Amino acid sequence: MRTRVCISVDTEFSIAGAFGRADRQPVGDPMVWCEVDGRSQGLGFLLEQFGKHDIPATFFVETVHRCHFRDDPMAPIARLIVAQGHEVQLHTHPCWAVFRHEDWRERVRQQPDQDDFVGRAEADTVALLRQGQAAFADWGVPAPTVFRAGNLQHDDALYAALARCGIPASSCIGLAVFDSHDPGYRLYSGTHWRHGVLELPVLTFQDWAVGGRQHLKTLTVAGSSFAEMRLVLERAHAVQLPLVVLLTHPFEYVQRRGDGMGTARVDALHQDRLARLCTFLDGARDRFLPVGMGDAAAALRAVPDERNVLLQGSAWLGMRRLVEGAVNDRYGHWALARRQVSA
Ligand SMILES: [Zn+2]
Repeated sequence: MRTRVCISVDTEFSIAGAFGRADRQPVGDPMVWCEVDGRSQGLGFLLEQFGKHDIPATFFVETVHRCHFRDDPMAPIARLIVAQGHEVQLHTHPCWAVFRHEDWRERVRQQPDQDDFVGRAEADTVALLRQGQAAFADWGVPAPTVFRAGNLQHDDALYAALARCGIPASSCIGLAVFDSHDPGYRLYSGTHWRHGVLELPVLTFQDWAVGGRQHLKTLTVAGSSFAEMRLVLERAHAVQLPLVVLLTHPFEYVQRRGDGMGTARVDALHQDRLARLCTFLDGARDRFLPVGMGDAAAALRAVPDERNVLLQGSAWLGMRRLVEGAVNDRYGHWALARRQVSA
């Protein structure tokens, strides 16, 4: 059996520090395009790579930002993604809903956890999901069939709300990003029914273990080297995992100074990882099937894999990645500072 591979891209705008500081404004589509010297190094770069290697990806598009951005800058983005043959699915960050209120600054000060799904009342989540479904209808893109929560936060009420809204699948778990400590949601891999919704977790693997302690890593392009991604993919196929879900964001392909996109440069390390991943998947179609998440969920419904395998990475590769990342960050800081001085 080929292992399905879903590259998922959380596509969202940024509060950009506006909750904490009166002199800051949220940043809209520049966070998605990530232009450097007139060229899109975020979404544009991703679409180019996916197109070149014929890899259908899934873009989890945020919708609650419409409470702030009244001119709807995500609409043309969602339509472009669909026109290029990819899936758009629903991503929700509840924090944007506070912009419905004139006194949003006061509300944020009194209740800083605006973006939490954990502990949110089911009815409140249902309203957020319905807002997302309405946005997709307004944009003229297919209705969402997979949901991803902001910050990968989840609890029982979230799955119950998804079921009520008729959203059949979700990808809300990535244990190294968010761990609810509920054993029922300790999901590393596979496909799992929760409240009648099929959960397709972002893959979590173990990159090292010393003594009794293990370190978990959720599979992201920004957080894993190409060698690690390839190793985990090969090991997933070796144990016949039906599915591997990876996570990324458009803004991870540039290095930035500050919260917005004012000063940015290409992140060559991350771009190289994504390009190599796409080349690898394109050349390994005997073992891997790159596919959108809605398609994967529909195909795997009848044969869920609830083994919950925890794959092993490599401590050596993890160490090399940490060094590589530290060098990349330091060089980026230096180059951005120079860029700002000369601008
Ligand atoms: Zn997000």
